[in-house]
Amino acid sequence: MFIGVKELEQHELTFQEEFAPGTVDFHSAEFRQTGPLQVTASAALEGDEIHIAGRLRTRLALLCARCLGSIERAVERRFELFYRPVASIRRDEEIELHDQDLDYGFYSGDGLFLADVVAEQVHLALPMKTVCSEECRGLCPHCGANLNRERCRCGSRPRDPRLAPLAEWLDRKKSQGAG
Ligand SMILES: [Zn+2]
Ligand SMILES: [Zn+2]
Repeated sequence: MFIGVKELEQHELTFQEEFAPGTVDFHSAEFRQTGPLQVTASAALEGDEIHIAGRLRTRLALLCARCLGSIERAVERRFELFYRPVASIRRDEEIELHDQDLDYGFYSGDGLFLADVVAEQVHLALPMKTVCSEECRGLCPHCGANLNRERCRCGSRPRDPRLAPLAEWLDRKKSQGAG
């Protein structure tokens, strides 16, 4: 769906769209869409800015930040955005980023595609870090074993009892270093 300036000059647009998995290009290898992406939004022209407000919901498959296992998450987001014509930026203009400018974008030509707006909003809806569970033990940094499923040999290697005092001393030293 294209949100065109020419049409917006005539009237506001409201839309309810559903994007099937695979139809929106998220330019990301970190997640993929697993359920329909539903968008309800309206668009209006304010001066030469396109004002878009609405909400979206979908389901995504993400990777656990600790064990790299696949997680499925429902994602919902409300958004309110302003798009300025690229032509409005003077080349010598210094663009300062203030907080409120985070909701600003740019469009070139006659308008913009809803799918591009939505793709960006899905990125913003993602949590910074996702874990499959707070108890996830992750991967062993030495051998890469998934510690949720197996005990790797690095951790379970029995300590030589004769070396126990040395090991204790090393542990003490480590915890001192950490504090
Ligand atoms: Zn995990
Ligand atoms: Zn290991």
